[in-house]
Amino acid sequence: MFRQSKTVLQKLRCLSFQRQSQCRYRTTSATERALQYQAGQKIHGFTVKEVVAVPDLFLTAVKLTHDNTGAQYLHAARDDSNNLFSVQLRTTPLDSTGVPHILEHTVLCGSERYPCRDPFFKMLNRSLSTFMNAFTASDYTMYPFSTQNAKDFQNLLSVYLDAVFFPCLRELDFWQEGWRLENEDPTDPSTPLVFKGVVFNEMKGAFSDNERVYAQHLQNKLYPDHTYSVVSGGEPLAIPDLSWQQLRDFHATHYHPSNARFFTYGDLPLEQHLKQIQEQALSRFQRSEPNTAVPNQPHWSSPREEHVTCSPDAMAPDPAKQNTMCMSYLLGDITDTFEAFTLSLLSSLMISGPNSPFYKALLEPNIGTDFSSVVGYDGSTKEASFSIGLQGMAEEDIERVKSIIGQTVDGIIADGFEDERIEALLHKLEIQMKHQSTSFGLSLASYIASCWNHDGDPVQLLKISEDVARFRQALKDNPRFLQDKVQHYFKDNTHRLTLTMSPDDAYLDKQARTEEDKLQLKIQALSDSDKQDIYQKGLELLTAQSQTQDASCLPALKVSDIEPTIALTPVELGTAGGVPVQYCEQPTNGMVYFRAMCSLNTLPEDLRPYVPLFCSVITRLGCGSLDYRQQSQQMELKTGGMSVSTQVIPDSSELDVYEQGILLSSSCLERNLPDMFHLWSDTFNSPRFDDEERFRSLVMMSAQELANGISYSGHMYAMSRAARNLTPAGHLQEVFGGMDQVKFMKRMAETQDLSLALRTLQRIKRHLLNPENMRCALNATPQMMTGAAGQLEDFMINIAANKKLRKDVRPNITERPLNPLETPGSGPSRKLISEPHFKPCQMKTFFQLPFPINFVSECIRTVPFTHQDYASLCLLARMMTAKFLHGEIREKGGAYGGGARMGGGGLFTFYSYRDPNSMQTLSAFRKGVDWAREGQFTQQDIDEAKLSVFSAVDSPVAPSDKGMGRFLSGVTDELKQGHRERLFAVTDRSLVDVAARYLGIGQRTCGVAILGPDNDAIKKDPSWIIK
Ligand SMILES: [Zn+2]
Repeated sequence: MFRQSKTVLQKLRCLSFQRQSQCRYRTTSATERALQYQAGQKIHGFTVKEVVAVPDLFLTAVKLTHDNTGAQYLHAARDDSNNLFSVQLRTTPLDSTGVPHILEHTVLCGSERYPCRDPFFKMLNRSLSTFMNAFTASDYTMYPFSTQNAKDFQNLLSVYLDAVFFPCLRELDFWQEGWRLENEDPTDPSTPLVFKGVVFNEMKGAFSDNERVYAQHLQNKLYPDHTYSVVSGGEPLAIPDLSWQQLRDFHATHYHPSNARFFTYGDLPLEQHLKQIQEQALSRFQRSEPNTAVPNQPHWSSPREEHVTCSPDAMAPDPAKQNTMCMSYLLGDITDTFEAFTLSLLSSLMISGPNSPFYKALLEPNIGTDFSSVVGYDGSTKEASFSIGLQGMAEEDIERVKSIIGQTVDGIIADGFEDERIEALLHKLEIQMKHQSTSFGLSLASYIASCWNHDGDPVQLLKISEDVARFRQALKDNPRFLQDKVQHYFKDNTHRLTLTMSPDDAYLDKQARTEEDKLQLKIQALSDSDKQDIYQKGLELLTAQSQTQDASCLPALKVSDIEPTIALTPVELGTAGGVPVQYCEQPTNGMVYFRAMCSLNTLPEDLRPYVPLFCSVITRLGCGSLDYRQQSQQMELKTGGMSVSTQVIPDSSELDVYEQGILLSSSCLERNLPDMFHLWSDTFNSPRFDDEERFRSLVMMSAQELANGISYSGHMYAMSRAARNLTPAGHLQEVFGGMDQVKFMKRMAETQDLSLALRTLQRIKRHLLNPENMRCALNATPQMMTGAAGQLEDFMINIAANKKLRKDVRPNITERPLNPLETPGSGPSRKLISEPHFKPCQMKTFFQLPFPINFVSECIRTVPFTHQDYASLCLLARMMTAKFLHGEIREKGGAYGGGARMGGGGLFTFYSYRDPNSMQTLSAFRKGVDWAREGQFTQQDIDEAKLSVFSAVDSPVAPSDKGMGRFLSGVTDELKQGHRERLFAVTDRSLVDVAARYLGIGQRTCGVAILGPDNDAIKKDPSWIIK
């Protein structure tokens, strides 16, 4: 995987923690035990340097170094059972061959102790990990995993250490993961030679995304003198310049403990980690001088301008407006943590939300569709940057935008920021620290990664309250504190790059030609014996890939290590103002979470395509006496966010039954609950639909966001389309979130007069925000619940005027009791739509798009969640992915990813991601079914699939989300336990049986969809519908 940079604030957004309920069983907590360490203490080859309590985040930080190698180590002890490990190497390439990225892939292909192919992917099935991955950033490579099981932690640690420090790096692995020349059909030497390789294709896919292209150019050109001037992930056409030897050399210098930073997190004891890391890896090394430090970028004496081109976007809201322009400023060193904190806050004040000066000056005049893809503070490089600009604009507006940016900077220096906005921002930080996520360790690892990578102090970075206090003091001492920063970093800064990007109709052709030239150059240099050699190696690789793998060298958990029963989540049901409410008491750390589900059943059918737009604007147009700016300010000051989303919820027992609605979601600190309900009341009673210009801005942004998302989430669009004609829920899903919706929003963005659309939203509001068709959920601490329930009552009284009995538009309504223990009809219920006469139909759809890669999906109608066979189909999907499809689609086919999954809506779905093939992948799906029907798998394979499925089923749930499955889908703990028992009971016979009964050709209705480039085979085949 290749990761794009994130700003500190984005990272802070995920910074939140989870408190452990299990800590009550221990005499002392992990946090307290870690406080016993002393600076200078020696443990298993390490020396403790510093022990610091960080009460803000409920953790104790222990900093160590490894005596022999100088490896750095940070342990964050915290009473959270979701333990995390990560090792991070500073990788600073000086060319664009993608060497760190290819290395990241190749080390995961087998190592000294675990020489079997692909131990990393195999461990996914032998572990109960909650997270396993690897990332290549611009200047480091990181290998993190997390798990709640202590034995599993040791197993994974052993595999990770061996992969990183003692990989095999076989030539075959390099060909498979990096690049190779190979006959198009490796078994036929007369077929033409082509480039293949996983990273080669992954990067071609990555660079089919214009936002990505722009971001890459911007970084390369703002820091032109060292590692940031190259593409660490690999420039597709530079990748074939990398040799196997260069890869091994890069490993020897960069993957050395002296260049490594280890991070562990959670409630497992530190000594055990240190012992294992010392014994299995570090004891075999001596100190080296890695020379990987990144020098500061020499400052320019005058600003620069650059221009690049990209591929035209077929989905662009306005084809004449496809230019991007932004100005990027080089800021200070990120290891100055307070300066970085200040600049990141300053950036938010400048660009975030409708009250910020750049939002007002650049977005509101509707010159472009949205901010440029890179915007705001970016602290992922050694020296940070700030970028501001627009995308989706006309070429003639570029000069105008440049002068607006200059004027806005002048305006900020003159006027500064309102106190209330600064308070709103600090409130947001407080919420981010209080809100509890399930992946705190991972958030922490990525939050400290960049600063630590350049030898900044990671512990300092965790002391957020200290920074806040220092920030407040700085503002008190100097009221112009922020304005002076703007003067220094923006007005007076000559290291500034203006980068424009415009579409070029010949872009893809030129790219294809350059690739062809490169290929021919390589081929011309080959002798006949070289070609023979390539053919032989191709066969060798194919043979290696086709061999059954012996993974017995790898450690594994057993099915008996899985908890037989689920932990229950008690909820209470009640009503407020006649509306059903679910109360769930949780350790939410002073936060209250409020949700409401509103039915769509009375909404006229022709208005359904507008519902996603309704959701995205209803909390952003203003309400009551507040215009949209004041509304936004209030939301920031008083809440952790208020949003609305569409919901299509398939019934758990019948395929042609589903619930349709919208979900209101919000959170706040306990003290602000009345204010949050007040905002919701105003949204129900008097939402504002009068500002057409504001509405236009929001429409443009939504349309642009959807268009940009296709190259990244193409598999989701392909899956949604393939499912479209198989179930009624699948059909509605496509209306709300499929290619149909992308096209609907594109038409919307092209509409001159939006007043009609605004009136339509007003009509929708009367149907949707109606307490008659609503149910609510509250998650809060036990102490807070009574008060919260009282305030919910008041809210219901305030919005009672919206209550109106309306007729359902569909004749067939099925009711399900909210309380499963009650007899149907006696208490409150969910109203589901039933389509007893729905006829699923086969359909094959192809969307031709300007990408060099495909997204392929096939979807089969099977059985709902509570059906006998559902569990077998879940396991089959997992096993087929791990044991067959991964090899066919990724290893042999060269796609970035692919597999099968079973969905709650009763659909069994195959998919591929960033795939050079289309028809070949469809036949791989079919071969997967044949493989399953022949039953060529072992008990070990089944057990592995069980571990893998359970690690998803048992992934931790945050207190804010507890009880939500029951609230939304009516899936109770009893139903979950039933599914669990059916999963345990799956046997080889039931797997073969479901493969034959549901997935065989002609057994069930299926749908197919492909998004990809011009495709002759499809064009010639009349069974395809081409869009
Ligand atoms: Zn990758």
